[in-house]
Amino acid sequence: MTEPIVVIGAGPAGLMTAQALAEKNLRAEIFDAMPSPARKFLMAGRGGLNLTHSEPFEKFVTRYGESSARLAPYLRQFGPDDARAWADALGANTFVGTSNRVFPRALKASPLLRAWLKRLNDAGVVFYMRHKWRGLARQNANEKTRALVFDTPNGEKIIHARAVILALGGGSWARLGSDGAWTAALQECGIPIQPLRPANCGFIVAWSDAFRQRFEGAPVKTVALTFQDFTQRGEFVITRAGIEGNLIYAASARLREALERDSATIALDLAPDRSQTWLARKLETPRGKRSLATQLEKTVGIRGVKMGLLRELAPRAAFDDAQKLAAQIKQLRVPLVATASIERAISSAGGVMFDALDEKLMLRNLPGVFCAGEMIDWEAPTGGYLLTACFATGRAAGLGAAEWLRDE
Ligand SMILES: Cc1cc2nc3c(=O)[nH]c(=O)nc-3n(C[C@H](O)[C@H](O)[C@H](O)COP(=O)(O)OP(=O)(O)OC[C@H]3O[C@@H](n4cnc5c(N)ncnc54)[C@H](O)[C@@H]3O)c2cc1C
Repeated sequence: MTEPIVVIGAGPAGLMTAQALAEKNLRAEIFDAMPSPARKFLMAGRGGLNLTHSEPFEKFVTRYGESSARLAPYLRQFGPDDARAWADALGANTFVGTSNRVFPRALKASPLLRAWLKRLNDAGVVFYMRHKWRGLARQNANEKTRALVFDTPNGEKIIHARAVILALGGGSWARLGSDGAWTAALQECGIPIQPLRPANCGFIVAWSDAFRQRFEGAPVKTVALTFQDFTQRGEFVITRAGIEGNLIYAASARLREALERDSATIALDLAPDRSQTWLARKLETPRGKRSLATQLEKTVGIRGVKMGLLRELAPRAAFDDAQKLAAQIKQLRVPLVATASIERAISSAGGVMFDALDEKLMLRNLPGVFCAGEMIDWEAPTGGYLLTACFATGRAAGLGAAEWLRDE
């Protein structure tokens, strides 16, 4: 057959698919809606590009929560060690940074992406940019190829493919290319899809105007966040509309689900290294002519945005009672109004359900069409877990397509 093997989506999952096909001497053609490849991968590079995580595999695989068992076979084939070795082979010179996260020495994505694209070009992979996939054209049941409909700068184009790998991404940061529009095209074909929802995202808090004006953009450093059975230390940032940052992202799946059901109020410990008794004793020191703000700063080190949070959220009565104020510092309740928009989320939950896919990641009711990356229904916290699973499923879909083509 002369029809090409088509990969749609030039993000990390799609590029890894093309690489896996090239290893099997199969040349892929990659189509993408954007003018250049891997824009979200480049954006991830702005935060240093956390490629993967160096914790033991048994621990690593649990980070995918309910999807751990579904992703484990692919992660066993291409896991964190493979991701690191792959990046190093492309000159990334990776290192293990804080909290055992793995980064390229350059702390950005562009050199790695350049080397990767060169490797793919050398292997004969051809790129077609500004090709937005709209869906599958209607075909007779006996046709051996898949007819793909694209919008291009020169109008609609139909491309026939002998196998198709969809790596269309999730629904966050639509302006980087992954806008989730593919969900409608697949739903039309009867593919079960969980709605795309924000993951690793911020939350809306009803700040007063005064607090917002004073503290928007302020980092809240080393606090502990508790919600249900989740407790973790870390940092976050006050935004115009609420809160975001690594500590918030870590709790975001639980918080989003609680908000979907009902409501969510987090508890912040503003002084995680101090006991409530210690704080109360210090706060009982007679303050004489000192203002309350000076007293809090001098005795227990609460100042700036932490002071602002106390004033914003603690009940008035707590400020007249050292015991009550100490309790507020240890357990300041922050009611969340809603999940922030998917637009600014690091990733999205939802997507093509695993039950719709076979073990090769081929859609059961669309033979010859495979899925990879964030468009599949799994989610994970930040820490390199997102990219690693995109690489793993991208590779599995590429190898799966190669095997399927061989057996056809
Ligand atoms: C700010 C930010 C920081 C991040 N940092 C990290 C990090 O440090 N570590 C980590 O592990 N993860 C990080 N991520 C997440 C990670 O970048 C994504 O999980 C990953 O890029 C998803 O890969 P993918 O190939 O599945 O999809 P994408 O990278 O989204 O690629 C999908 C591609 O498909 C194309 N496409 C979509 N629809 C169509 C269509 N209809 N027709 C044609 N083409 C289409 C898009 O243009 C895009 O090029 C970060 C994300 C963001 C937003």
